[in-house]
Amino acid sequence: MIAENVKRLRAEIPEHVTIIAAAKTRSPVEVLELLATGLTDIGENYVQEAREKFDTIGSKFRVRWHCIGHLQRNKVKKAVEIFDMVQTVDSFKLAVELDKRCKEAGKKLPVLIEINSGREAGKTGVLPQESMDLIKKISSLESIEIAGLMTMGPVVEDSQELRPYFESTRLLYEEIQKSLTEKVRMKYLSMGMSDSYKIAIEEGANMVRLGTAIFGERP
Ligand SMILES: *Cc1c(COP(=O)(O)O)cnc(C)c1O
Repeated sequence: MIAENVKRLRAEIPEHVTIIAAAKTRSPVEVLELLATGLTDIGENYVQEAREKFDTIGSKFRVRWHCIGHLQRNKVKKAVEIFDMVQTVDSFKLAVELDKRCKEAGKKLPVLIEINSGREAGKTGVLPQESMDLIKKISSLESIEIAGLMTMGPVVEDSQELRPYFESTRLLYEEIQKSLTEKVRMKYLSMGMSDSYKIAIEEGANMVRLGTAIFGERP
């Protein structure tokens, strides 16, 4: 099932778009089945869950682990041991902690800035109008490297309603790209999930995060 889904998705999704398998609640066995298809990028929401799969899968496969869930500062040290990219940086405090732990670990970590594109109160992500300032501040840190933007968008009934949020995030991405410094690269635009990836790709996403479309409905 997983293999068929990946085959169909990989045939349909343009080659330049990286597929992240959003693996929350999935077992190590399911993840191994996924990796056997040749996909290499796994997204996890929780450090502990990522750790368990990381330990089971060990060196059997070359995997890039992405943190796609909100990261608490007290989990950063453990997160740095596992993740190859953190897609959910939305505050300077979190960035400073990541930088500190990466420095200790002798690691350079690519991060994406999470944008609260729906401008919703109480949601994760930095507000679009505050993102440029945040990026400027973070770019002074030495052990993390800004590599793009990520957004979820608000919860909507019809995924077409997400289009304006994806579009505005892409416009922001392009704006930041224009004011690039050496420490800031806009390489990845991570947006779109199982019910919205087509729209997200039309709006410029080059990284999509798929759970249900790959693994089936979550238990
Ligand atoms: C669960 C999750 C996804 C994937 O969701 P699906 O609808 O199952 O594709 C993508 N991004 C994040 C941040 C998630 O938590």
